Amino acid sequence: MNASPTRPSLPPMTPLQRLGLDEWSPEASAELYGIREWGADYFDVTADGQVCVSVPFADRKVRVPLMDIVAGMKARGLEMPVVLRIENLLDHRISLLNDAFARAIDKAGYQNHYRGVFPIKVNQQFHVIDEIASFGARYNHGLEAGSKAELIIALSQLRDNDSLIICNGYKDAEFIELGLYAIQMGRRCFFVAETPAEVPIIIERSRALGIRPLIGVRMKLSAKVDGHWAADSGEQSIFGLTPAQLIEIIDLLKAADMLDCLQLLHVHLGSQIPNIRNIRLGVLEACRYYVNLVEEGAPMGFLDLGGGLGVDYDGTATNSTHSMNYKLDEYCIDIIETVAETLDPQEVAHPVLITESGRATVAYSSLLLFNILDVRSPETTSLPDQLPEDAPELTINLASVLEQVKPQNLQESLNDAIYYRDEVYELFRHGQLTLRERALADSYYRATLYRIARLLPEARRISPELEVLPELLCDTYYGNFSVFQSLPDIWAIDQLFPIMPIERLNEKPVRQAILADLTCDCDGKIDRFANPNGEMTTLPLHPLRDGEEYHLAVFLVGAYQETLGDLHNLFGDTNVVSVRVNEDGSFDFIKEFYGDCIADVLSYVEYHPQSMLERFRNSAEQAVRSGRISVAMRQQMMEAFSASLRGYTYFER
Ligand SMILES: *Cc1c(COP(=O)(O)O)cnc(C)c1O
Repeated sequence: MNASPTRPSLPPMTPLQRLGLDEWSPEASAELYGIREWGADYFDVTADGQVCVSVPFADRKVRVPLMDIVAGMKARGLEMPVVLRIENLLDHRISLLNDAFARAIDKAGYQNHYRGVFPIKVNQQFHVIDEIASFGARYNHGLEAGSKAELIIALSQLRDNDSLIICNGYKDAEFIELGLYAIQMGRRCFFVAETPAEVPIIIERSRALGIRPLIGVRMKLSAKVDGHWAADSGEQSIFGLTPAQLIEIIDLLKAADMLDCLQLLHVHLGSQIPNIRNIRLGVLEACRYYVNLVEEGAPMGFLDLGGGLGVDYDGTATNSTHSMNYKLDEYCIDIIETVAETLDPQEVAHPVLITESGRATVAYSSLLLFNILDVRSPETTSLPDQLPEDAPELTINLASVLEQVKPQNLQESLNDAIYYRDEVYELFRHGQLTLRERALADSYYRATLYRIARLLPEARRISPELEVLPELLCDTYYGNFSVFQSLPDIWAIDQLFPIMPIERLNEKPVRQAILADLTCDCDGKIDRFANPNGEMTTLPLHPLRDGEEYHLAVFLVGAYQETLGDLHNLFGDTNVVSVRVNEDGSFDFIKEFYGDCIADVLSYVEYHPQSMLERFRNSAEQAVRSGRISVAMRQQMMEAFSASLRGYTYFER
C-alpha cells in the first residue's frame, strides 16, 4: 500500500465545501485544480471560465485565453494534439534566473558575476534553443553540450563570445578538435573532464593543433539529494571524478605544463532537487574542492554548480519529489552566500558563478493540448422502472440491496452486493442465467456501488475497501495523444504534471476520471494528478456535450518531454505551435510545425512508403482483374491509401 498519501477525490468535492459555494464558479475551478499554486502566475482562470496564459510585461500582465489560441490553430489547419510554446514565458524564465542571481550578487557584495548555461539535452528543439540563444544574448546566457551533436548546436547557435559553452559527457578526439577550433575563434568553450581518460586526448589534440584548451573537472559529491534521483546522487553517482582521480588529472596537467588551463570546477547534484538544504550542502562541498584546486596551483576562476533547480509541479511548495521547498531568490542567495562565506576565510577570489538550469528554464513555456474523443463510464445507464415479472431471485435481492443503501450501512451494502454478484456469476457459468439476466443483475450491482460511493462523504467511518470505490468507479476519458510520445516521463519515472480542462470552468466538473491515450496500452494512461491539495487518483472533468469538443492541457511539459518520446504504436511527433503574446493582448503565430505524417513514422522504422503504395496498387489491380472491384473503386481505394500516408498519426475528425 504505497498509495496511502493519495486520497481519492469524490463528489461532492471538498474545495466546494471549503469555499462554501452553492453555485460553481471559475474561482472554485481555480481552487480545485490548484492552477494558482503550480501556475507560477503564468496561468489563471478567467471570469468566463477559461484557462488563460498571463504574460508579464514591464508594468502589467496580459491575459490570453488558451481557447483563443486553439481557435487560431484550427483556422490554420493545425489539429490536436498540439504542443503549444509561449515564447514570452521562455524569455521571462531566462530573465528571472539572471535577474535573481544579479540581485543575490548585489546583496551579498559578491565580487564576480553570474553566467547561466542552458543544457541542450533538456529541450534540443531548434526554435527553443534559437530563442534561448537570441533572447539570452543580453545576459550572455550560454549552452551546455553533452555530445558532439549538441556541441555543433551550441557552436552554430550562440552569437557572442562572452557566452559560455560547457562540454560535458564523454569526449573523443573529434569532439575535442571542434571545441579547440571554437576557442581559436574566440569562444569560451570548456572541456569538463568526466574521467581521467579524456585528459591525455585533450593534451594530445591541443598540442597537435597548437591551441590552449579551457579545462574543467567534474567532481562526484558525497552530498545526497532527496527526490527521484536520490539513489543516483552522492557516492553512488556514476558521473564525476573521485578525489584520487582528480589528483591524477592535476598531475597529468602539471606534467604536460598545462595546469594553467584548469579553470573550472563542475558539480551536478541531480535534477529536480526538492530540498534546498541538499543544495547548500552540495555547494559547500564543491567550494572545498575549489579551494583545494586553487591551492594545487590551478588558476581556476569558474565554479559551475550544474542543474537541479526545481519546478513546483504539484504546487505544494514542499520537499516532495514533484515540488520544491524554496523559491528562486532563496536558491540564488543561498548559493552566493555559501560560496562567499566558504572562500573568503581562505582568501580565494570569487569565481564566475555558473548554473546549468534546464528544467526550471523551459518547463513553463510548453503545454500539451489535446481533445477528448470518447468517455467510457462503468456506470449503468438505465435501470428499469420495475423489475421484470420473471426476474431471478438474485436480481430481486440485488435490487433491494440498492434500495436500502444509506450512510449508516455502506459496508454492509457492499458486502451484500458482492455476495449476490458472485452468486450471479456462478449461475451464469452453469448456464442457469441468460445473457440478458446477467446484464440486468450487473446493472443493479454497479448502481449499488455508485450509490455507496456517492454517500461516502456522509459516512462516519470509511474502511479501506470503501475508500477505493470511487477510483474503481471513475470514468475513462480517451484523449487524443500518446503518453509515450508526448509525456514519456509519466510512463518512465512516474512524473506528475498538472492537467486540467481549459474551458467550461464556470461549470462544476461532476465526473471523476482517469485519462487513457490512443495507444490502448495499459501503460498509456494517466491516473495520478498533481494537485496542491494532495496527489489525486482521479481528475474532476465535465461530461462531454454532443457535437462539442472538450479540450484539456498538460502544463509544465517544456523540459525533457519532447525528445525522450518514442514511437509506440507509431504515433509520431505532434504539431507544434510557437506563439508570442503582444502587449496589446493580441498574439502572433511565430512558428508552426506540422507533426509527423504516417509516411514519416513508417520510414523511421525502415518502411518505404512509396513501395507500400506500390504493393497496395498491385493488390488493387489484381482485384480489378479478377472482377472483385471496379476500376473506379480501385481509384477510390488508392486515393484513400495515399491520403492516409500523408495524414496525421493522431485521431482526425
Ligand atoms: C541534465 C543536466 C542538467 C540539467 O538539470 P536540470 O535539473 O534540468 O536543471 C544540467 N547539467 C548536467 C550536467 C546535466 O546532466
